Amino acid sequence: MPKKQVILDFDSTLCAVESLDALADMVLADDPDSEAKVAEIERLTSLGMSGELPLSESLARRLAILTFNRGHVERLVESLRQKLTPGLVADHQWIFDHGEHLHVVSGGFVDWIVPVLTPFGFRTEQIHANVLFWDADVCVGFDQHHPLSRNGGKPEVVQQLGLGPNMGTIAVGDGISDLELKRTGHVDQFVAFTAHACRDVVVREADTEVSSWTGLREILDQAWTP
Ligand SMILES: [Mg+2]
Repeated sequence: MPKKQVILDFDSTLCAVESLDALADMVLADDPDSEAKVAEIERLTSLGMSGELPLSESLARRLAILTFNRGHVERLVESLRQKLTPGLVADHQWIFDHGEHLHVVSGGFVDWIVPVLTPFGFRTEQIHANVLFWDADVCVGFDQHHPLSRNGGKPEVVQQLGLGPNMGTIAVGDGISDLELKRTGHVDQFVAFTAHACRDVVVREADTEVSSWTGLREILDQAWTP
């Protein structure tokens, strides 16, 4: 039987923070209105993740508050590499060895997730996330047609990967969009990852809850043992 494929979330799962919130903190650091804008962005993130606001709208409204350039993204990448889930960096050889079975599917952006994760063994072609649009060095929006910019996007991407029901696929994440993979039957096992964020509904409907990288690694090693 082929080895089980694993779908991993990025924000608050592989990484300890919500990356768009971290970008907002950085971009708005010198803005006189920063406190109100950061609070609004965090509110929109939370509403998007709890399902109270359509994801596409949450994303568009958050990005509309921010003006940023490639320099900001470079600084964000440096900062996120320091905020990866404890244990992950030390396990880069394990990640490299199992790379073909690890897919990152995120509502964040490839523009920073790819450079953050690839030095630690994740494969560029197996990182699926939203895409920013640029005019020279300035971000001018994002691809609103990308499935991951809307609700139900993760199941759509997992289906495009050729993964479906009864293939033993395991999803790991902290949010409703991760849980959707299980609810829609696209994965057979859902692991709630609660090291950084813990949502009742996500934990309640999960098959397993795990609160550390080491714990997750044990679950995957076990799942991959013939
Ligand atoms: Mg997440």
